[in-house]
Amino acid sequence: MPDNAVKRRLLNEIFEVALKHFGPRDWWPGDTADEIVIGAVLTQNTNWTNVEKAIVNLRKAKKLSLSAVDRAREQTLATLIRPSGYFNLKAKRLKAVARFFADRCNCDLAALRGEDPRSFREELLQVYGVGEETADSILLYALDMPIFVIDAYTKRIASRHGLCSADVSYGDLQKVFESNLPRDRQLFNEYHALIVEVGKDFCRPKPRCESCPLFLDRLFLTKGSLRKARQTVCLKSQA
Ligand code: SF4
Repeated sequence: MPDNAVKRRLLNEIFEVALKHFGPRDWWPGDTADEIVIGAVLTQNTNWTNVEKAIVNLRKAKKLSLSAVDRAREQTLATLIRPSGYFNLKAKRLKAVARFFADRCNCDLAALRGEDPRSFREELLQVYGVGEETADSILLYALDMPIFVIDAYTKRIASRHGLCSADVSYGDLQKVFESNLPRDRQLFNEYHALIVEVGKDFCRPKPRCESCPLFLDRLFLTKGSLRKARQTVCLKSQA
């Protein structure tokens, strides 16, 4: 694996190229910190379009806050969030998350801003239904803490560009980003949002390298990763 100076250069260049192509993404798509927390649970195993429908229902029913979720009946929530899929399970998870924040800070998220991100992360991971990606999305986007969010897109793009192996663990890939970029929450926020754009539009299970803004020789860390990306383009042009 390449050394950290090389990874640092590559991570910076990928960011610059993606930012130039897509422009600032202004994430997360939510008006309040509470809405971001709720959205982070609802987006598990589904796409954002479905989450939006569930959020509209919650808003109309005046249940789009952690205190309202904490007071609501689980079955009522399940009915409202039905469009997001796995609605019974997610209603249970929402209730658990809301209870956690009710106990921890009386649902006043602003009161948590001074918490140590790593130890607060450990607390969040103990909450029913909160895995690493959900916890980190809450920490970064709702609580403005400098934690890098890893998702399937991040893993796919990073491995295809030679930054890690395809079966890298969540924690190891998070270290690649966090130890090679300035610990800056705005940078982490923007970077993850740009990764989602690349993943959604181009770096799909079947990559669309031919039209992807990241298809530049200098953005591949190893000869093998560049060769593979070129092959996908050749295979398409032959088809
Ligand atoms: S589609 Fe190709 S060029 Fe774009 S990020 Fe994925 S591997 Fe890289």
